[in-house]
Amino acid sequence: MSIADNIRSLKNETSVIHVTLIAVSKTKSNEEIMEAYDAGQRLFGENMVQELVEKYETLPKDIQWHLIGHLQTNKVKYIAPFITMIQSVDSIKLLQEIDKHAQKNNRVIDCLLQVYIADEETKYGLGFDEVIEMLRSEEFVNIKHVRVRGMMGIATNTESEKQIKEEFYELKTFFEGIKQSYFRKENSFDTLSMGMSSDYKIAIEQGSNMVRLGSTVFGQRVIKHWKNN
Ligand SMILES: *Cc1c(COP(=O)(O)O)cnc(C)c1O
Repeated sequence: MSIADNIRSLKNETSVIHVTLIAVSKTKSNEEIMEAYDAGQRLFGENMVQELVEKYETLPKDIQWHLIGHLQTNKVKYIAPFITMIQSVDSIKLLQEIDKHAQKNNRVIDCLLQVYIADEETKYGLGFDEVIEMLRSEEFVNIKHVRVRGMMGIATNTESEKQIKEEFYELKTFFEGIKQSYFRKENSFDTLSMGMSSDYKIAIEQGSNMVRLGSTVFGQRVIKHWKNN
């Protein structure tokens, strides 16, 4: 199947159940991205700031870019003018930096809190207790140019469907609890980003309303082992 076919069938699959599809285009060329764009896709996800900025500058301006990878505070300024959503907020310091640059650009930036649910040490994200601590902090109250829209989580990379299911279930439950406790009056706290190519069907069953799909859209990413090849 071509990229365009993949986009069309995934859009059909997700739109009827009100799940938003983010096409994860990291490492993919502008030509490949344009094939998805021409099939109607406008939401794309990237995980590296420099790659994201280059693509933003060269591709159509009605693309809505989501940052899904770890963001260093000193790089916020490069994406603040145009980013649609930052899904990988994992500290109050980062949130404050986003707030500062959003204000400079006269905008409010939508963000998701990345919550740690996997049984792996390498993944970034906030623990459940850290989310609560952040939402209760004085620093958080003073943030005016960020709109926290919900949460993002990455499940463990495992064959065990049971484990993946449990991790997504926990995040969905936590998300609903936080919404009730801290965002009851804000209808904009509505986004739960869970699910990648290998586990998005399980994520949707567990209540995800945003999936981030790379290889299912574009095919396998080529991992380069040698710098000079
Ligand atoms: C790369 C990436 C994805 C997409 O991965 P696929 O397995 O190719 O679908 C989703 N979310 C994050 C945070 C990623 O870094």
